Amino acid sequence: MNVEPQQIVAEAWLAGWEPPPDLNVWQWADQHRILSGKAAAESGPWRTERVPYSREPAEKLSPNDPAQRIVLMWASQTSKTENGLNWIGYIIHHAPGPALFVMPTLGDLKKNVLQRINPMIEATAALRERVAKPAAKDAANNMFVKEFDGGMLMLSGANSASALASLPIRYGYGDEIDRWPLDVDGEGDPLDLLEQRLQTFQSRKKLLITSTPTIKGISAIEREFKRGDQRYYFVPCPHCDHRQVLRWRDEDGTRRIIWRRDEAGKHMPKTAAFLCESCGVLIEERFKTQMLAAGLWQATAPGDGMTFSYHLNALYSPFMSWAEMVSQFLKAKDIPEKLKTWTNTKLAETWEEIGLALNANVLAKRLEDHTRGTAPAAAAVLIGTADVQGDRVEAKIVAFGAGEESWLVDYEIFWGDPSSDATVWARLDDWRRRDFPVHGTERTMRLAIFGVDSGDQADAVYDYVQPRQSERVFALKGREYLSRPGLSMESTAKRSHIRLFLIATMAAKDRIISRLQIMEPGPGYMHLPKWVPEQYLDQMTSEKKVTKKNPRNGVVKMEYHRTGRNEAFDLEVYALGMLFALQQIINPSMFRDLGRLQAALATGQMPGGTVRQRGVRSSGVIL
Ligand SMILES: [Zn+2]
Repeated sequence: MNVEPQQIVAEAWLAGWEPPPDLNVWQWADQHRILSGKAAAESGPWRTERVPYSREPAEKLSPNDPAQRIVLMWASQTSKTENGLNWIGYIIHHAPGPALFVMPTLGDLKKNVLQRINPMIEATAALRERVAKPAAKDAANNMFVKEFDGGMLMLSGANSASALASLPIRYGYGDEIDRWPLDVDGEGDPLDLLEQRLQTFQSRKKLLITSTPTIKGISAIEREFKRGDQRYYFVPCPHCDHRQVLRWRDEDGTRRIIWRRDEAGKHMPKTAAFLCESCGVLIEERFKTQMLAAGLWQATAPGDGMTFSYHLNALYSPFMSWAEMVSQFLKAKDIPEKLKTWTNTKLAETWEEIGLALNANVLAKRLEDHTRGTAPAAAAVLIGTADVQGDRVEAKIVAFGAGEESWLVDYEIFWGDPSSDATVWARLDDWRRRDFPVHGTERTMRLAIFGVDSGDQADAVYDYVQPRQSERVFALKGREYLSRPGLSMESTAKRSHIRLFLIATMAAKDRIISRLQIMEPGPGYMHLPKWVPEQYLDQMTSEKKVTKKNPRNGVVKMEYHRTGRNEAFDLEVYALGMLFALQQIINPSMFRDLGRLQAALATGQMPGGTVRQRGVRSSGVIL
């Protein structure tokens, strides 16, 4: 490191003038912090004894401890953020200096300022006195900057490079770092930018990083946890005194949280207990408080010598019972996207994508009888999508019902050069404008929306969609990520009067791959008919997720690589995107609740009596 000797001397000199702190962070919180606001799990004075596992990390955050990097990979409902706020309160009151608090986005931050930070300052007398009241005209400024004697607290979103690259800071706090963008405005990893700002303060700097984890191999908090000494909270068995980590299961998959079933085989979450690894006695939850109080953090790896990293799952949470953990697990276990969230937020563990286990042979076993070109009675909406290639247009129609359970309704290839052969488009029109009989009823349905990929043949596609947008025929394009995390959708204008929908393909692919692994009909299940062409199932399983490191800046990210043709899969991605467009942009009140919409269709009672899903051409007004 490039530290000038004078700088070290100057820092030591300055440090010598700091009054020795009479309290550490948790002692401060016990004396001064009042919990209030909507976001607090419990209100009233903060009590560290309620969450004894907070004690050691809080000591590491105190100025008389030399630790510089503190990493919390903690489950939700463990008071992770409240610990960070205690530290902020302590900085303002006892160890002032420039501090930066970074959350994933400005929106998250705004919510936190209003629901947690401002209420903390208001409710805690020692802070209320110190934080400068802004002049009325500075009210906007007050949102993201808190000035106090000897320092200031700046608040920023991780998606803002300019805020992350300005003044030097002594304290950095990054919250929910797994939801930060991988790269901010081309400037690199926002966590790197945050650390660079701490450089000036060398020996007195402190960095706190917290998050629940996400995907194995890409999770930033897991990377930081492994960089550290990997501490776990060991608690004594009330029966044999053996110290162990409270955990859902062992590494070999054997479950340690056990519950009974009744005579009918029904799960009884209230009987949840932990199986001691030493004496084999079931430990009931009523021992939790005494076990937490007697717990100790123990490092399980050497680490890099400067990072103290802590793992905590929700079994330790005083705000969530083991019975609740089990109930939530039972609700999530058969739906991969829910199980993933449960694993990330409750176990504080990364999720391993198991897309590799998925292959065409597995899907072939569950093909169903279905008349091509008909909709199932459970359908709420029919969505069509097309992929335009140099010599053909491939198109598919998917029905979605309650819980986004879906059915493949039709799949067709229209041969011909779309840029010169007008019959290709005419055949496509006839195909998508049909009335689709609803199985077992007198009803018919029409497509609610039709999306055409403009990625390859933009001009031909724009020519096609422009006069048909009033039929809800739109151009669309896939982008790996959009500016918002998760499945999202943006609409922009192209040429004159052409609306282009952008779809975040990464999130849509994740969702489809996890849904293909659902084996029982119900929410998210994808029904596949027996009439699908042979290559269809190969195409649906052609994408594999891999991790890739950018050699230039070392950023690791996940990518999809296809192992063969994948039009059928792409069309499914677009269908999910167009459903999202209906629900988020075009007509949320009609399409957001598919269960309600399906019931209305089945009984012929559309909400308000004016919205008609079929015959959109007759009204001409759809947006
Ligand atoms: Zn025991």
